[in-house]
Amino acid sequence: MRALRVRPVAPFRTSSLDQDAVKVVRRLTESGFEAYLVGGCVRDMLLGLQPKDFDIATAATPRQVKRLFRNSRVIGRRFRLVHVVFGDKVLEVSTFRALAKPHAAGADPLIREDNVWGTAAEDALRRDFTLNGLFYDIASGEVIDYVSGLRDLDRRCIETIGNPSVRFREDPVRMLRAMKFAGRLGLHLANDVYQAIVDSAADISKASGPRVHEEIVRMLDRGGAASTVSLLEKTGLLGIMLPEVEAVLRTRWAAGETPLTWKRFEALDQMVMSGRQASAALRFAVLFGELIEPITGEDAPDLPPATAAGRIEDVLRPVLARLHMPRRDVWMMKQIWMAQRRLLHLPAARKKPNSALFLRREYFADALRYLMFTAGATGRGQERADAWLAFMRGSIAAGA
Ligand code: ATP
Ligand code: MG
Repeated sequence: MRALRVRPVAPFRTSSLDQDAVKVVRRLTESGFEAYLVGGCVRDMLLGLQPKDFDIATAATPRQVKRLFRNSRVIGRRFRLVHVVFGDKVLEVSTFRALAKPHAAGADPLIREDNVWGTAAEDALRRDFTLNGLFYDIASGEVIDYVSGLRDLDRRCIETIGNPSVRFREDPVRMLRAMKFAGRLGLHLANDVYQAIVDSAADISKASGPRVHEEIVRMLDRGGAASTVSLLEKTGLLGIMLPEVEAVLRTRWAAGETPLTWKRFEALDQMVMSGRQASAALRFAVLFGELIEPITGEDAPDLPPATAAGRIEDVLRPVLARLHMPRRDVWMMKQIWMAQRRLLHLPAARKKPNSALFLRREYFADALRYLMFTAGATGRGQERADAWLAFMRGSIAAGA
């Protein structure tokens, strides 16, 4: 199969290339194995973004890779690969894989195992979207394109590699990944991709809970949360994954209002774009926040904390039964909400010791952020948020 080899028009800034990844690729090629950077990092560098992590694809098998790097371990069963560890950084090295076997007509095409080694070209073809199917050859400085990914990046368009309906049936999580890339990178979905998602949306319930959770976490983490959630709504995926959230958004839109969720996500996106990270708990607090507004919102009745906590529990039970959210994040998310009533009162001079204690809670900063998102959304409560911020800064300055 012929590949297009292209030198990027705007050469990658050497600062954006991870030097450890460069070392790993060099070691592999010097040992006689074909090896490239692949996937998200090549895509992000071509879009002028700093990649979050660097993945490597190679002709070496996991055992051969393991033998070359002392600081490595083989992981995964369904998808075996090698993690090469540098301090707290992990580089993923995966072996070129062949295409999934063509399935018999009528057979369930869901991919369960994916450990058949192949060539670079085959490896490109089994990836999800053309923009994720590009290799970068460090030695020659060229992008290797078997899938027209460069053309689609130029068109700012998300295309599946192959027929979208088939690719989504093989792995329904790819639908969420399409939403994530569209929202985060500001790209549009090809018409057939969009239509296939609308048609296959119900299949998302076949996907594994932890993978769905993982993709939701990632959808909300890099500045495209509002537009991604909007796409989830439009395609029907939200209604299937999180019907409670979809229902509350629909009710607000129908009443001619902009949902708080939407405005809070915009504020969260701004925060992330300005370079600050948001915890997973804060992201989920925004995602589910409008569901518990009647319990902890500004107009909620003043409930004893145990009663409020019990009601939150009741609302969340069906939602969390479907989503595999780590317990710690669930706990933090609840604390963020529970803290809102307290934050709506100014830090009282008389109760300074209590307020100082509150300030030291691990959820305090997230809870205050959430209050700021809400204040920005409703136009109310900003002076309280400012007062807490001043109080917090004063305490830090005083070494409290
Ligand atoms: P992110 O920036 O969110 O990490 P990414 O593109 O790097 O995005 P990963 O989940 O890290 O996504 O996966 C790395 C690469 O593996 C992708 O770029 C893609 O080529 C391939 N890939 C990941 N998930 C799938 C999938 N479900 N089906 C096919 N290929 C996939
Ligand atoms: Mg990645």
